[in-house]
Amino acid sequence: MPRPISAAISAAALAHNLQAVQALLAAAAAQTGAPAPPNVWAVIKANAYGHGVRTAVRGFSAAQGLAMLDLDEAVRCREAGWVGPILLLEGIFEPADIELLDRYHLTSCIHHDEQLAMLGHARPRRRLDAYVKLNAGMNRLGFSPMHYRQAHARARALREQGVLGTVGKMAHFSFADGPEGIAEQHELFLRTTAGLSGPVSVCNSAALLRFAQVAARADGQSHWVRPGICLYGASPFAGTPASVYNLKPAMTLRSRLIAVQRLQAGDRVGYAGLFTASGPMRVGVVACGYADGYPRHACTGTPVTVGGVRTRVLGRVSMDMLVVDLEPVPTAGVGTQVVLWGEGGPTVDEVAESAGTIGYELLCALAPRVPLVFPD
Ligand SMILES: *Cc1c(COP(=O)(O)O)cnc(C)c1O
Repeated sequence: MPRPISAAISAAALAHNLQAVQALLAAAAAQTGAPAPPNVWAVIKANAYGHGVRTAVRGFSAAQGLAMLDLDEAVRCREAGWVGPILLLEGIFEPADIELLDRYHLTSCIHHDEQLAMLGHARPRRRLDAYVKLNAGMNRLGFSPMHYRQAHARARALREQGVLGTVGKMAHFSFADGPEGIAEQHELFLRTTAGLSGPVSVCNSAALLRFAQVAARADGQSHWVRPGICLYGASPFAGTPASVYNLKPAMTLRSRLIAVQRLQAGDRVGYAGLFTASGPMRVGVVACGYADGYPRHACTGTPVTVGGVRTRVLGRVSMDMLVVDLEPVPTAGVGTQVVLWGEGGPTVDEVAESAGTIGYELLCALAPRVPLVFPD
C-alpha cells in the first residue's frame, strides 16, 4: 500500500470559484454602467498553483482565457482541448518561441525591447495577439512610463507589418492587498496609456476582489482580469478568509495517523524536542512532512484536523512525518483520517500564516510525490 497521503483536487470547486468571481464582476459592471462584465484570464501558472493543468482546463471551462508563463504548459492546455485564448504572462524568451506562438495561437505579453526586436524578424502565418506591459512601479516586468508609448508605437508598427494582431495594454499592481491599494499605480497606467485603444488587463485576485469597479470600468475598452489565487479558493489577503468571498478550497491535503505515542510530563517530541508535554497526553504521528510540501516552519499550534476535530501540530515538522496533539480527539488511533488543509480542515491560509508564509507558496510547493486524486 502507498503512503496514505493524497491531495484531492476538485474541478467543481474551481468552477464554483470562477462563477463567484464572475458574479462579483457582473455586479460591479452593473454599478459602473459597463455594457458587459470584464473577461477572465484564469491564471494557471505553476501547474495551476499545484492543482494540475488538465483539471484547471476542465474547472475553468467558463473562463474566456487562460494565462500562464510556461510555453510547455500552454501546449499542454491545447492538448487538453482548450481552444480559447492563452496568454503568456512573460511573453517569449527566445526567437524560437515565436513559432510556438504561431502554431498554438498564443497571446503574448511584450515587456522589453528585445521581445519587440525578436518579433520584428517574425513571419507568422497568423497575426499574433499581444499586450504591451507597463512597469507601473513594481520594477519587475514592463516598459517604464517614459518608454511605454514608444514601445506601444513599435508594436503598432508590427501590426502594420502583419506580424501582430490585437495590441492590448497591461500592468500589474504592487500593493493591491495592502494599505496603499492601487489608486496611484492605476492613475499612472491611465495617464500613460491614454488614447491608446485595445484590450486592457490590470487586476489580479487582490485587485479585482477589493477594487472590482476598476476591473469593470465603463470606458468602451474590452477589459480582462487575471485572477489566480482566488480561483483556487485561497485568499490574497492576510486576515481575510476566502470564504468571505464565497470561495471554496479546491485542494484538500489528507493523510492518516500511522502511529500513536503516550507521553508523560517532561517528554519531548521530534527533532530538537521543541515541544515538551506538561502532563500525560496522547500524540499522533501523521504521514506528511516537508518532503510532501508541508511547511517545515509550521510551528507548534498550527491547526490540523484529526478525525473531524480541530487540533494542533506539535514540535518540528520532519521530512516524512509530523506530530499532532490527540487530547481533543480521544477516539483517534492508527488509521484515523487527518486533513492538513482544505475541505473539512484548516484553510491553507491558516497553515501558511503559522509558517510565516502565504497560501500561494504552500499550494505551489505541493511535492510531486503526493498523488493527486480527482473526486469529481
Ligand atoms: C500570478 C499573476 C497573476 C495572478 O495573481 P493572483 O494574486 O494569484 O491573483 C496575475 N497577473 C500576473 C502578471 C501574474 O504574474
